[in-house]
Amino acid sequence: MLASEPVSNMELSTSESPKKLPLFINGRFVDAISGATFPDISPVDGRVVADVSEGGAADVDRAVLAAREALKGPWGTMPANARLDLVAKVADRIMERFDEFLQAEIADTGKPLGWACEVDIPRGAANFRIFANLIRNLPTECFQTDTADGEGALNYALRSPLGVVGVICPWNLPLLLMTWKVAPALACGNAVIVKPSEETPATATLLAEVMNEVGIPPGVYNVVHGFGPDSAGEAITQHPEISAITFTGESRTGQAIMRTAAANVKHLSFELGGKNPAIIFADADFDAAVKGTARSTFSNCGQVCLCSERVYVERSIFDRFVEALKLEAESLRLGDPTLPETTMGPLISKGHREKVLYYCNLAREEGATVITGGGIPDLGPAFADGAYIQPTIWTGLPETARCIREEIFGPVCHIQPFDTEEEAIAMANDSSYGLCAAIWTTNLSRAHRVARRVEAGMVWVNTWFLRDLRTPFGGTKLSGVGREGGIHSVEFYTELKNVCVKL
Ligand code: NAD
Repeated sequence: MLASEPVSNMELSTSESPKKLPLFINGRFVDAISGATFPDISPVDGRVVADVSEGGAADVDRAVLAAREALKGPWGTMPANARLDLVAKVADRIMERFDEFLQAEIADTGKPLGWACEVDIPRGAANFRIFANLIRNLPTECFQTDTADGEGALNYALRSPLGVVGVICPWNLPLLLMTWKVAPALACGNAVIVKPSEETPATATLLAEVMNEVGIPPGVYNVVHGFGPDSAGEAITQHPEISAITFTGESRTGQAIMRTAAANVKHLSFELGGKNPAIIFADADFDAAVKGTARSTFSNCGQVCLCSERVYVERSIFDRFVEALKLEAESLRLGDPTLPETTMGPLISKGHREKVLYYCNLAREEGATVITGGGIPDLGPAFADGAYIQPTIWTGLPETARCIREEIFGPVCHIQPFDTEEEAIAMANDSSYGLCAAIWTTNLSRAHRVARRVEAGMVWVNTWFLRDLRTPFGGTKLSGVGREGGIHSVEFYTELKNVCVKL
């Protein structure tokens, strides 16, 4: 049975009363079959912003059925250019409804207006634009093969979509990271079942309206809200008719998904955790390195997988650097995320703040010197029920400390001095993670040399988080499996079939 339940009215707002966020299946907003809901809580003040339909295995079943119908019908048979025109229109429509996406994202995450305006929403739109263009201009592999009769043969590769793709998302950059996967998946001709994070369900639901508005056929984009284990997330990873899972989240969750997905040998793409190093050499542009490291440590309240939690600074500039980064941390303005002057919002939830505070206490026990922060700021009664935390800097920990080895995912970093390039590389690589690294130096040879030797999927030199969406994105070691971005996304979201024609 395809979804035929009564249509719920989806409303998103930052007003006082909680709104309803239904599932989106087969082009319609529907309640979960169980009728269960869960609250979507603002990390700014603890207010319930929405009641979210809590999907489960039965809802994933009907979403998969709808997706398969779309692949057999209008979506699967649509000419590629018509499909890509629709995908590009999603980008335009997100930009037309920019303010609504902005409000929804800020209500869910508490991220500052400036960051959401510059990063989350425009990137959400750009993902659709860029992948529509990329796939429109995709070349095909072709080989002329010699044969004994001298006539030869022609080999060419055809790309087919994988089918139904499960997209399981985290809460830190909800629209940006979800569309980073949905856009190439749809551009390649797949249908998707999206499971947004339970912390941030709003923009995936708003995107569903956009899909209908631009004419994406029913069943191509489905949203099943819910949790991970024993809920919608696990049901997606178990479903035999979902061909692939693209997941962004914690490494531990990736391990669980990999185990479950093994039963059906699903294609997997994993963007996982990080414990990223920043290496600052004495020859770096000092001010740029300080500002850049402040950005890479404290942006989005430290909740970007690419954030630097381990900072290595050449000893001759160590004291000056620590002092300068402290000033940057202490100049951050915490508070109402909708005010332009606010530069740091709260963590995603009080639960996550407990985890970060646990590490703040652990750092002290492990012998850290607290340069700044380490506690809950006093922002007055309006934010007393929020999940705010002070930007925090430590020094003095041994490299074996848990605070240096484990991902914390908050506005925290430890600064360690080094004496030689060799030592800096060794400390940067002494981690079970390998997502990204930032190198700050004006020595060109050193920049290339260190970039080559650092064990990471992405390296930035004299910058951070400067992204070209055509480039490979992903991590090594515990930080991920596979790469997405540009042609690498196409490689993941399609399968190749070689055709050999004897001439
Ligand atoms: P998480 O792993 O707790 O949850 C991510 C998603 O997985 C959620 O939608 C959750 O409901 C779902 N989930 C949980 N258990 C599941 C299960 N057993 N089966 C199926 N689904 C399940 O991650 P999070 O706390 O939302 O996000 C923060 C983490 O994400 C950090 O570790 C961060 O480094 C990582 N991250 C990585 C990247 C990257 O590109 N490498 C980007 C952003 C965030």
